[in-house]
Amino acid sequence: MNVTASLPSLFISHGSPMLAIEDSPAHRFLLELGKRLPRPRAIIVVSAHWESLAGVVVSLAAHPETIHDFGGFPAALYALQYPAPGAPEVASRAAGLLEAAGFAVKRSASRGLDHGAWVPLSLIYPEADIPTTQVSLPHGASPAEHERMGRALGILREEGVLIIGSGSLTHNLQEFSGGPIDAAVPSWVSSFAEWMDLRLRTGQRESLLEYRAQAPFAARNHPSEEHLSPLFVALGAAGDGARAQRWHASYQYRVLAMDMFAFLPAQAG
Ligand code: ZN
Repeated sequence: MNVTASLPSLFISHGSPMLAIEDSPAHRFLLELGKRLPRPRAIIVVSAHWESLAGVVVSLAAHPETIHDFGGFPAALYALQYPAPGAPEVASRAAGLLEAAGFAVKRSASRGLDHGAWVPLSLIYPEADIPTTQVSLPHGASPAEHERMGRALGILREEGVLIIGSGSLTHNLQEFSGGPIDAAVPSWVSSFAEWMDLRLRTGQRESLLEYRAQAPFAARNHPSEEHLSPLFVALGAAGDGARAQRWHASYQYRVLAMDMFAFLPAQAG
């Protein structure tokens, strides 16, 4: 499906690092996703796995390394490399846009791609030939601040840059208890996912930004917020009047909602 001339922004639930090599509905969805989008000139990923303590950090790395930031997984996962070129020019522009919007910005010359970025990208763009960079999540920032961050970056969509927020629609690893990938999903997980889906599809932005007070079992699904924060960046990046489409929904390992949303800008028609 060809979406629009202008790129949507995306929210991707990346689940477990095993997503890279383990067959599942989410794995198969990502394998097809690249064919469904206009080819981007560059990619910016805002991942749950890069939080910064003072302001926002933007990576200017020319050849970002593949960071295996997880423990206890099969050797095959540690052998994977995602050698996409960096995107220092786009990253510099992103840094300038964030500064103009009032964010304190730092530039890193060397930060590579964490698994929140390279695991999904290894399925979406397996050729690893699109320049890719990452922008950090400012630790402790509110959903509204993350949305504003996305807004600042949104203009880059019109310049052919694909903006991806990579996290997980639900993410309580304390309640992860092993078991099969297709284990039955408890209602405290599904009711939260459905609450979010309805408000995303109907454009209830204020309610979404207040999810922690309004959504059922919000704190139980997100004991910490870093896996949901990238969703607000993606939402902001599509601008006012954007329409969210749920392009994929599935669950893994009982507690992980693997939803993928595309945010189509209003002018896309
Ligand atoms: Zn993660």
